[in-house]
Amino acid sequence: MDFNLTEEHIMIRDAARDFARTELLPGVIERDNKQEFPKEQIKKMGELGFLGMMVDPKYGGSGLDTISYILAMEEISKIDASASVVMSVNNSLVCWGLEHFGNEEQKQKYLTKLATGESLGAFCLSEPEAGSDATSQKTTAIEHDDYYLLNGTKNWITNGSTADFYLVIAQTHIEKEHKGINAFIVEKNWDGFDIGPKEDKLGIRGSDTHSLQFNDVKVPKENRIGPDGFGFKFAMKTLAGGRIGIAAQALGIASGAYELALKYSQERKTFGTAICNHQAIAFKLVDMATQIEAARHLCMKAAWEKDQNMDYTVSGAMAKLYASQVAMDTTVEAVQIHGGNGFVKDYHVERLMRDAKITQIYEGTSEIQKIIISRRLIGTK
Ligand SMILES: Cc1cc2nc3c(=O)[nH]c(=O)nc-3n(C[C@H](O)[C@H](O)[C@H](O)COP(=O)(O)OP(=O)(O)OC[C@H]3O[C@@H](n4cnc5c(N)ncnc54)[C@H](O)[C@@H]3O)c2cc1C
Repeated sequence: MDFNLTEEHIMIRDAARDFARTELLPGVIERDNKQEFPKEQIKKMGELGFLGMMVDPKYGGSGLDTISYILAMEEISKIDASASVVMSVNNSLVCWGLEHFGNEEQKQKYLTKLATGESLGAFCLSEPEAGSDATSQKTTAIEHDDYYLLNGTKNWITNGSTADFYLVIAQTHIEKEHKGINAFIVEKNWDGFDIGPKEDKLGIRGSDTHSLQFNDVKVPKENRIGPDGFGFKFAMKTLAGGRIGIAAQALGIASGAYELALKYSQERKTFGTAICNHQAIAFKLVDMATQIEAARHLCMKAAWEKDQNMDYTVSGAMAKLYASQVAMDTTVEAVQIHGGNGFVKDYHVERLMRDAKITQIYEGTSEIQKIIISRRLIGTK
């Protein structure tokens, strides 16, 4: 067993770290305050190849493995989780889904633009009545001659107003339940497609979350992904990989908070000594570092299994479940170590604490991850 990273992995991690420090750190507090999307920064991420990291170079991607992707996700998330969620959705939901299940025409038309960052993608599964219970799709896509007519509402869509192309899950054959669901590529400027107001969120406030409305949107038949009825499988398979990206996002939030807390504890003095010399603080740092290391191993294992074409459903769910808990625990302790300074914006840790929470909710809540893992353990599905 070799725990060393390759030279290429180290190079990618360092490039992401440099980018995060030089391009994302300036203005991150202001963007959070103003709920401002990191538009210029995302454009640069596209130019540097961070938005299509795992896509084959023949479609404009960087052709890298999942380990490279999670190393970069961790570094970007240490500084700005609002930018890393854009990266995560574009890479692991939209690009991965299209590359693996789209046909050649769809890849040429859409993936080539998404992988280079020329266009941005969104993944639209959740609805007002279909979150954890994703089978309860109320959005319909009814078949006509050479098109589907799309009607319904999607909720909580990341890149909701900034995306150009939307992967939309909808019910075509209601009587077939989840086997009647399809996935479609929808373009932003099509008639009948409306974008709701931006959500005012607790965390990842720079990211762009909206509800979407489809009123008789005509979707050409060639924009259906995969065979008829493949949509639910498409969503589940895509989310299984997406979770590894969110696990890495949680890991980055945790390690970013830990690094800030460690530094602060070495500088801040009380009772004549740096606070890291008080055992109560030193032990907090030990717990944080140990949990982060364990979360990193789970993320790496899931990424490695994906790169080996193994079944990564359980390892991805475990990585997300654990890393998101570590992100919560670590950021709360990082605020505590900062004392009063932890409670104000300038020291970054309060933002990281707010950002951490979403990693326990999206791409399957922690309870849903436990359902996925327990089914495999018990052997019920
Ligand atoms: C900022 C943000 C960005 C998002 N981005 C996207 C996106 O880009 N695309 C997209 O499609 N969706 C997105 N989502 C939606 C997200 O995936 C859902 O919010 C999430 O899956 C939970 O669904 P829900 O909100 O309907 O909660 P519910 O499903 O109503 O769950 C409520 C609570 O009940 C628990 N629960 C539900 N069922 C069970 C059960 N069987 N057993 C035990 N506990 C259960 C849940 O764990 C949760 O604690 C985003 C959400 C947010 C907040």
